[in-house]
Amino acid sequence: MSPSVVTPSAGTGLLDAHGRVADDLRISLTERCNLRCTYCMPAEGLPLAPDDALMTRSEIARLATLAVRELGVRSIRLTGGEPLLRRDLVEIVGDLAPLDVDLSLTTNAVGLASRAQALADAGLERINISLDTLDPTHAQLLSRRSLLPRVLEGIDAAEAAGLTPIKINAVLMPGVNDGDDAVELLEWCLGRDFELRFIEQMPLDADRTWDHSTFVTAAQVRTLLEERGVALRPHPAPRDGAPAERFDVYAADGTRRGTIGIIASISEPFCADCRRTRLTAEGTVRHCLFARTETDLLGPLRDGAGDAELAELWRTAMWGKPAAHGIDASFVAPERSMSQIGG
Ligand code: SAM
Repeated sequence: MSPSVVTPSAGTGLLDAHGRVADDLRISLTERCNLRCTYCMPAEGLPLAPDDALMTRSEIARLATLAVRELGVRSIRLTGGEPLLRRDLVEIVGDLAPLDVDLSLTTNAVGLASRAQALADAGLERINISLDTLDPTHAQLLSRRSLLPRVLEGIDAAEAAGLTPIKINAVLMPGVNDGDDAVELLEWCLGRDFELRFIEQMPLDADRTWDHSTFVTAAQVRTLLEERGVALRPHPAPRDGAPAERFDVYAADGTRRGTIGIIASISEPFCADCRRTRLTAEGTVRHCLFARTETDLLGPLRDGAGDAELAELWRTAMWGKPAAHGIDASFVAPERSMSQIGG
């Protein structure tokens, strides 16, 4: 039967009408953040949903359990906003750790130093940390905060707690960190055995300043690295729907020095292989980062919906996932910005 005539049916995973199956769940725990990265949040912050509109610890556990046990989810990444701003983050991790799932966290690492060990003890397996530059002036310019030393402390603590392999996420912004900073960050990551991911800037900034003609593309990143003598070869492992295209980095004498990833959501989209489903902090399902519609699960859950009903709502939401994100000249950005969706 062709995918176009199939409809989602009870008992299946999160299938969409284009034949993809989502088994990778991002859960946003909060919209709040302690940084104000220019590509994400406005300087003055964003209006926040009231606390009682956000999923509680037990509601997160209920929906995550449903996703894993009924809907075939195999990996969960906790994100935000800044997930470390949830006071109950360690408890949330402890609730989710017993699930048969690969559990990870994306964080800016501010405040991680005091919680990394507790998170590891609670069952967190891996961590992605956002770090755009090692230059304190540029870090201040990009994040509008002077918190680089706390980020670096957090990274040290994550490593000491065994939250490895650590992945470092960097968004390159033209004229700020897309030259020497990028190469310095790469060398630092290789030296510490961290996997650096360069992420293309996406049109999800609340200020709506993203411009198709100025964001730093994956091709430009590869050219920059090659011009600086960094030899890249495709990583041999299959990509398997992962956002990052991975490359091994080689020294001049042919020694492999490590691996990097480039996430080219805009210039080389990977929608055809996308396996992601998302829950916002308000408990709505988004089938795509760039979706303009959402499906509320938290309202029905609070109204007493059973697992079968919630699973059906989730399946139906995913069924409508478009074939591609459609970022072209006619693209209209979603109302929520990245920090409100959960990156
Ligand atoms: N606060 C956490 C952090 O900093 O990792 C988690 C949330 S943050 C929204 C997740 C990731 O999204 C970060 O790596 C951040 O750099 C990235 N991000 C935010 N806005 C983006 C944008 N407009 N384009 C590309 N990546 C973006």
